[in-house]
Amino acid sequence: MAEFSLSTEAFQRRVLDWFDRHGRKTLPWQQNKTAYRVWVSEIMLQQTQVATVVPYFERFMMRFPSVQALAEAPQDDVLHLWTGLGYYARARNLHKAARQVVEDYDGEFPTHDIDAMTSLPGIGRSTAGAIISITSGRRAAILDGNVKRVLARLHAVAGWPGRSDVLARLWTLAERYTPHERLPDYTQAMMDLGAMICTRGKPSCLLCPFEDVCVAHAQGRERDYPGSKPKRETPTRSTRMLLLQDDSGRVLLRQRPPTGLWGGLWCFPQFDDGEALRDWLARYPGTHLAHAWQPFTHVFTHFRLDITPCPARVSDAKLATHVAEGADERWVDPANPGDIGLAAPVKTLLEKLAQIPTTTD
Ligand code: SF4
Repeated sequence: MAEFSLSTEAFQRRVLDWFDRHGRKTLPWQQNKTAYRVWVSEIMLQQTQVATVVPYFERFMMRFPSVQALAEAPQDDVLHLWTGLGYYARARNLHKAARQVVEDYDGEFPTHDIDAMTSLPGIGRSTAGAIISITSGRRAAILDGNVKRVLARLHAVAGWPGRSDVLARLWTLAERYTPHERLPDYTQAMMDLGAMICTRGKPSCLLCPFEDVCVAHAQGRERDYPGSKPKRETPTRSTRMLLLQDDSGRVLLRQRPPTGLWGGLWCFPQFDDGEALRDWLARYPGTHLAHAWQPFTHVFTHFRLDITPCPARVSDAKLATHVAEGADERWVDPANPGDIGLAAPVKTLLEKLAQIPTTTD
């Protein structure tokens, strides 16, 4: 399998050359690069595109030109200026963090200490890395969504970056490539590459400085990286369905409550496990449990139901009447259950029962 073959130095050189020629250099937060301005821009840019952020950023800076101004503002004012940007927890955290910076750090972001930075509300490792590398010149890696995508594709790092092993691998790459010089340009370039060239849906590989070495591109599988979040596992429940037949082959059905799963449909009596089933049958001494049939699975939208059909016989006619004495229970001919609503697996099982010749003991 192809491997990424560029040295760290060559990688950095290509990134910076690309930045010199194509990187964005006139964004409002790229002027007067203070930790406060970079921080606000980074938070606004989470889940939001640059073009949308620019006017919000400018209005925000007009109203709150410093971290002190933001800290002193009522939260309503902050949320008001955020209106339309979405993800309002970002604005609330921004406000809280501003107060913390003013109270705990005299209004100066602790850019010398990544742990102190990441202890501020809403600032994760990548945002802290961006603020530190862009404003203090200290070496700190970033790994926002754009950078994750670029690195995952360049190195064909498989798996969803929400998985800790995948994330750790991407951080290792991000750390390795972070240069000692021109940090702000490198950081901006990596974000721009992801946002402008190596886009999620349609990467412009022909314009990419890594077109000749990118592993995902060589594989023709750019969009397979990074891996997507796995669909939530569908939970599995299990049930035993009692296929209780009388001597004439009729089978017992029970109507389900009007609401909920299979609401109002007719089903076989159901039990959570074999013990519950045996306990129930023990109340009716004339019943005999046979070997369970092969279990099968019925799939609902939100869960899977493993069904074990458990055939049983009741030989006493009086007992049969006694068992099905409620209005919500009845004995039916499996071949002709009547005009009743049946859950799909029940219908299938009735058809199977109908094919089994009735024998009398
Ligand atoms: S070659 Fe294509 S997939 Fe690879 S990093 Fe560049 S734009 Fe992304």
